[in-house]
Amino acid sequence: MTTATRALAVTQANRPFEATTIERRHLRDDDVLIDIKFAGICHSDIHTVRQEWGDIEFPIVPGHEIAGVVSAVGDAVTKYKIGDRVGVGCMVDSCGECENCKNDHEQFCTKPAVFTYNSKNYDGEQAQGGYAQQIVVTERFACRIPDELELDVAAPLLCAGITTYSPLKRWGARPGTKVGIVGVGGLGHIGVKIAAAMGAQVYGISRSMAKADDSEALGATGHLATSDDATFRDHRRSFDIILNTVSADLPMGDYMRLLKPYGVMVNVGLPNGDYQLSPRSFSGNTAIAGSMIGGIAETQEMLDFCAEHGIGATIETINADQVNEAYDRVVDGDVRYRFVIDTATIGE
Ligand code: NAP
Ligand code: ZN
Repeated sequence: MTTATRALAVTQANRPFEATTIERRHLRDDDVLIDIKFAGICHSDIHTVRQEWGDIEFPIVPGHEIAGVVSAVGDAVTKYKIGDRVGVGCMVDSCGECENCKNDHEQFCTKPAVFTYNSKNYDGEQAQGGYAQQIVVTERFACRIPDELELDVAAPLLCAGITTYSPLKRWGARPGTKVGIVGVGGLGHIGVKIAAAMGAQVYGISRSMAKADDSEALGATGHLATSDDATFRDHRRSFDIILNTVSADLPMGDYMRLLKPYGVMVNVGLPNGDYQLSPRSFSGNTAIAGSMIGGIAETQEMLDFCAEHGIGATIETINADQVNEAYDRVVDGDVRYRFVIDTATIGE
């Protein structure tokens, strides 16, 4: 028997969200049914729904920052029991057998991975995401939310947390390193908290100084404005790692000049256009790298790290009927720092 659940969907291009009812699949042996309590709004949801990344299939229920409680389990489930607090991020299935899955990099599953929405399940059904009151996923793709973390501030960690934790760890943010986080938004503000908890000296790098006090409260040593030419002069060749979380085009060459010799620019922002880079951007033996979310084991590791360091997202909780307005506010940079939908309000 399928489960009917209330959800927020966009049914046609350029239309607002509306409350609707969708069906979740019958629980398979290894599935868990999750009562979703909170769902974060990631800028990727907006890029997708507004078709900035290409045409999509409607109706769509976005949402890949999901926190809730297990309310039913399939017959063969061993990892969770009813009542457990769990989160779901950007993926809901993968083959489990290819080299990338075996290396805990399910996001690069060659089958490929099933993403939480705008993706087809292996049975051919369109996957629908977390702006809903319930979801069914295989237990392998649910992560345990430690007791120390409230569900509302934990939800954004499932995408924004892992997307910043994974590259900061990979590229060695630690005491003695200077890390710049470009774009202090949903991803960036968590990046500042995580890099600081890793022991790095962190700078929030924004368009203006408006978020300077916030940056420092998040754990940054300082805050730099890219509108001020002095930023590019005074901090030239001084960063070990720069993490770019900006959702729009950037003059990447200017930022590359902030890197120390052998420093790295890690790009996680996904605007639709191309970046312009001259070959001279790499003088200083600098590198530019990408990073896409993170595997399930690393997502669990990130949640445990955040619990240990008292890191949750800084959020504004909204009701379901505020989502349309919230999308415009994210694009305008008018959120401190992540909107989280209280899913109990869907369909009120
Ligand atoms: P967000 O909350 O909107 O934050 C983006 C930040 O970028 C803003 O707060 C702003 O920071 C800065 N910004 C926005 N427009 C700008 C412009 N025109 N010029 C310069 N700076 C600008 O978005 P988010 O949810 O953090 O997502 C950020 C990007 O990461 C999106 O493109 C998203 O799709 C992508 N993403 C990638 C992955 C991955 O796996 N690689 C995962 C999740 C999201 P300031 O106000 O501080 O300047
Ligand atoms: Zn996301």
